[in-house]
Amino acid sequence: MDGSVRLGAVRDGELVDLARAATMLNAPEAREAPELLREMLALIAAGPQAWARVAQLASAAPEDAALTLGSVTLLAPIPRPAKNVFCVGRNYADHAAELSHVMGHSTPATEARRPNIFTKAPTTVIGPYDTIPFDASVSEQIDWEVELGVILGVGGRHITRADALSHVFGYTVINDVSARDLQNAPGMQWFLGKSLDGSCPMGPWIVTADELRDPAALRLTLSVNGEVKQAGTTGDMIFDVPAIIASLSEAMTLESGDIIATGTPAGVGYGRTPPEFLKPGDIMESAVENIGALRNQVVAVERGA
Ligand code: ZN
Repeated sequence: MDGSVRLGAVRDGELVDLARAATMLNAPEAREAPELLREMLALIAAGPQAWARVAQLASAAPEDAALTLGSVTLLAPIPRPAKNVFCVGRNYADHAAELSHVMGHSTPATEARRPNIFTKAPTTVIGPYDTIPFDASVSEQIDWEVELGVILGVGGRHITRADALSHVFGYTVINDVSARDLQNAPGMQWFLGKSLDGSCPMGPWIVTADELRDPAALRLTLSVNGEVKQAGTTGDMIFDVPAIIASLSEAMTLESGDIIATGTPAGVGYGRTPPEFLKPGDIMESAVENIGALRNQVVAVERGA
């Protein structure tokens, strides 16, 4: 392709170029709101009526507006979030247990009143098949965490559990790549340990909430070099997606385009005996049922690269 960044909708294994489809169909959005056909955050912010019109455009688009998936490079569905990615720590009991035995925690995660929230910097986000930089001078304990990602569609405060899923635009796959030596350094450097460049592979796309209605029973798996390390189900979350949205929005304003990584099941490298960490050349595949899979290789970089 020509190297330009486009916004697309997957249709029957092809990718419909939304701006091109709107022009070919002479849709009013092509003239009146071209940004929401080119930029995911603009589309999400435009709200449910705009999403429905764009979905119609995608299904009505002529074949000439579609590209084969193999002919494009997929970026993260939101390549540069407007703010940090929210993450939920210790949200699966089996993962909380494997961590308490190495880190030690006084309160069992299952007894917490609120989900444990931390964040990753917007600069962590990379595409579904991008490489993950490995700089041994920064961390030698890079670990994996496959997670269901939730993309907020409609923001708000005090969103109730019952309303929460109606605020969701869609779902994606996130690998919450973690530098354990930084995370667990004296003083608990969680933010640094979770925010190395390239530590948030995301994608391969967003499955919209009208297609994936129930996020509560999806299988998650992560393999390293073909060997399965994590295999869980979102049904085992301690705080489910509605509870996470309700708790976050009780404390702060949530906005369209906000991203929540909802926690990881057991099987991370740090919780293993002996601990396992990634090394240059390793390939991770992170998958969530009914969404898709990421494939990211760890690649050594020079200091400062
Ligand atoms: Zn995580």
